[in-house]
Formats: sequence, C-alpha cells, structure tokens
Amino acid sequence: MELQHFGYCPQCLKTAYWQSDETKEMTCEWCDRTFVYDGEIDKFMDTDTNEIVKRKASDEMDRLLDIALNRYDTHVIHLNREQQQKAGFEEGQRGAFVTKENGQSLILLDGSSDENDRIIILSHELGHAANFQNDYKRDHKTWLNHVDLNRFNGAHSVMLREQSAWRYAHQLLKEVSFSNWNNFFSMVSYNIGSYYETVWKPYRAWFFKEYDQKPVQYFPDKEEFLKSLV
Ligand SMILES: [Zn+2]
Ligand SMILES: [Zn+2]
Repeated sequence: MELQHFGYCPQCLKTAYWQSDETKEMTCEWCDRTFVYDGEIDKFMDTDTNEIVKRKASDEMDRLLDIALNRYDTHVIHLNREQQQKAGFEEGQRGAFVTKENGQSLILLDGSSDENDRIIILSHELGHAANFQNDYKRDHKTWLNHVDLNRFNGAHSVMLREQSAWRYAHQLLKEVSFSNWNNFFSMVSYNIGSYYETVWKPYRAWFFKEYDQKPVQYFPDKEEFLKSLV
C-alpha cells in the first residue's frame, strides 16, 4: 500500500493521492477525478469545470476525520476491495484500528460502504483510538498483550475493549451531532453479539471443560450493555 502521498479527496473525503511532490494534482479513484490544489486560496479546483470543488461528504464525516487527525493523531485510510484483501480483512469486516510499535496508529476503513455506515464504523474505530490513547498511553505492546486470546484473560479483554470502543463511539457521535441512532444501535447489537459468539462462547466452553465451572463474567451482557449506552 502506497501511503506516502495520500490525502483526503476534497469532494468525498475518502483517501486520494497526490500525483507527485511537485505537482498540485490530486486524484480520487472513488470520484474518478483529478483536482488541482490552489495554494493562494487554499482550495481545490475541478480540472474539468474549473470551479472550486464543493464537498459532498457530510459534516459528521468531516468532523470525525478532523477528530481522528487532531485529537488521536490517527490517519484514516479508505480501502477498496483489493486493498482490503491485502490488508487481511476478514469476510464482512469493514474497519480496523492498527497500532505500531512506535505508538503510531492508523484506521483502515472499507471505502465502499455507504456513508451512513462508514460514519458509525469510523466512530467505533475512533473509540479504539481513544481507548489506546487515553487508557493505554499509546503503549503498543500492552495494548496487544491484553487481547491475546492465548493468555488467560484475553477473551475478557476483547469483550471489554469492544464495549469500550462503542462507549467512546457513542460520545463521539453525540459530539458531531449524529442523528441516525437506530442504525447505530442495531450495528452495536450485531457487533457485540458476534463477538459474544466468536470470542466469549468458545472461551466459556473451554473454561468449563478445564475447570468444571463457568468463568466469572466481568462485562455486561448485550442487552444490559445497550441499555447502559442510552
Ligand atoms: Zn473523491
Ligand atoms: Zn472493534
């Protein structure tokens, strides 16, 4: 993945690429267009119409991207299907929060999802970024260790971390005046439910076999969690 020359498309706010260091041209594959940056007026011009490019993406998206960069020092990269495969996205996965050893972080986002969904997915990944920065002080090693499923408390940590990300997401979306809450809650419900099935249930079964008793559960069940968000 070539990330050196990337920026945000002035029209759709997805990932676009500067053609080189010298030219002021930026190409967006999502919009299938090239724009020219005019430094004097700090605006992009459409090379076809010669007019100032108007943003089509929503204010919510604009503000979340701003929060990503300025509050959590995290770039957001929109991936097409081919790039998602290269990045190792699993079937149905639409976002990822990635940390590096030096404490840097990155959000990968399925650029082909519609904008309403992308806003919610981005808020969730930003929730991980907030968790990483506020609660882990950007310590990559501890961050990874806590969700290592081979460690004793890994499954607990994964569940807590996913719920934590949604709690932050809820706050962030309120902050950017988001309004599509039905959509938000159904996504949270689906997401927490699937972690419960794929992470918690297998752990519980393993624990039961090993110790002949159920493990203590430190996180709230889905319904209880959803209620706690409102
Ligand atoms: Zn675009
Ligand atoms: Zn997550």
